[in-house]
Amino acid sequence: MKYARFYGIGDIRIEEGADLEPGDGEAILKVRAVGVCPTDVKAYYSGSSSIKVPIVLGHEVSGTILSSGTEQLNPGLKVNVAADCPCLECGICRRGLVNMCPNMLSLGVNVPGGYAETMRIPSEFIERGLVYPLTGGTGFVEGALIEPVAVSLHCLNLADYASIENAAVIGDGPNALIHLQLLKRIKRVKNVTVIGLSENRLKFATRFGADHVVNISREKNFYSEMKKEQIDLVDITIGNPEAAAESSHLLGKGTHILIFGGSMNDAQIPVSMNDVHYKQLRVTGSTGTDLKSYSNALDLVKSGKIDLVDLITARFRLEDLASALDYSRNLRGLKCAVEFPDG
Ligand SMILES: [Zn+2]
Ligand SMILES: [Zn+2]
Repeated sequence: MKYARFYGIGDIRIEEGADLEPGDGEAILKVRAVGVCPTDVKAYYSGSSSIKVPIVLGHEVSGTILSSGTEQLNPGLKVNVAADCPCLECGICRRGLVNMCPNMLSLGVNVPGGYAETMRIPSEFIERGLVYPLTGGTGFVEGALIEPVAVSLHCLNLADYASIENAAVIGDGPNALIHLQLLKRIKRVKNVTVIGLSENRLKFATRFGADHVVNISREKNFYSEMKKEQIDLVDITIGNPEAAAESSHLLGKGTHILIFGGSMNDAQIPVSMNDVHYKQLRVTGSTGTDLKSYSNALDLVKSGKIDLVDLITARFRLEDLASALDYSRNLRGLKCAVEFPDG
C-alpha cells in the first residue's frame, strides 16, 4: 500500500509499505477522502513540535472498513474517523476539557493519519465510539470534513448567543466560511460580516449567507464604518496576529472574542486592560472539539445543513499531496481534498 510520509519541513515522500492487517480490536480503513487542513500546511512549511516525525499526516478522514478485528465495525461500512481520541479518564478529561487531554491520540500527530491508501484505526478510537458511520447520501469528501465542522462548532458554542446580534468573522478561509454558515444557519445570528482579503473567497462568503463582506485591501475605513453598530462577537478564524490585533477596533460593550486560529509562531497580541475591564470583554480560545460537538457536526453534515461540497475547490491524488499543500497555502481557492479512486 502507498502512503505519503512527512519527515520534516518541506519533506514529504510517497512510499510503499506492506498491506496492513488489523490487530485485536482494530480495523483497517480503505481511505477515500482526506481534507487538507491548515494544520498540515503549517507542519509542512513551518514544522511542528508536537508531530512525531516521520509520520503520515492527515486527520480529516473518511473511507470504508476494509478488514476488522472487532465486531463493532464490519467490512464495507462507510465511516468518518475522528481526528483525536482523548483518554476520558484523566483529570483534564474529567473536567470536561477532553479537547485538551494530555494523553490524546491524534491522527497525523502521534498516530499515522489518512494520507495513505489504507489507515489503521487504533482500538481506542473504536472502543470510545470515535468511528462514525456515514449513512444516507453523505459523500466521502463531506464525510471527511466533519472534523473541521466539529472544531468550528466547539468554538462557536463557547459564546452566549442571547446577547449576540452582530458578528464579525475575521478571515475568509474555509474555516471562516464554515463558521459563517454555523453562525447564520445554526446560531441564527442576525448580522454576520466576513472580513477578508480575497475577492474570490468573499464571493463565496456572500453565497454562504454573509450579510456583509469587507475586503480590507480595498476598504480602508471599514473599522469606523462598522463601529457605528455594536459588534457583539468577533470571531478570529485565522492565525494572523496583525489581523487579530486590528480587530480590537471592533470591540464594543460586552463583546465576545473567540480565538479559533493558532499563529505560526507564538505571536503576542496587545490587549488593553481597561478595554477588558470597562467593556467587560469576554475572550475565549478554542482548540479541537468535544464529543457532543462532534456528533452534532455529524448530524449537520448528514442533513445537508452545512454546505461542504462547494467549499471544496480542488481535488488531488495522493501522489500530488505537495501540490495540494501548496494550493492551500497560496489561498488560490478554498479547501482542497485528497481523494482515492474506488477499487
Ligand atoms: Zn483539521
Ligand atoms: Zn484525558
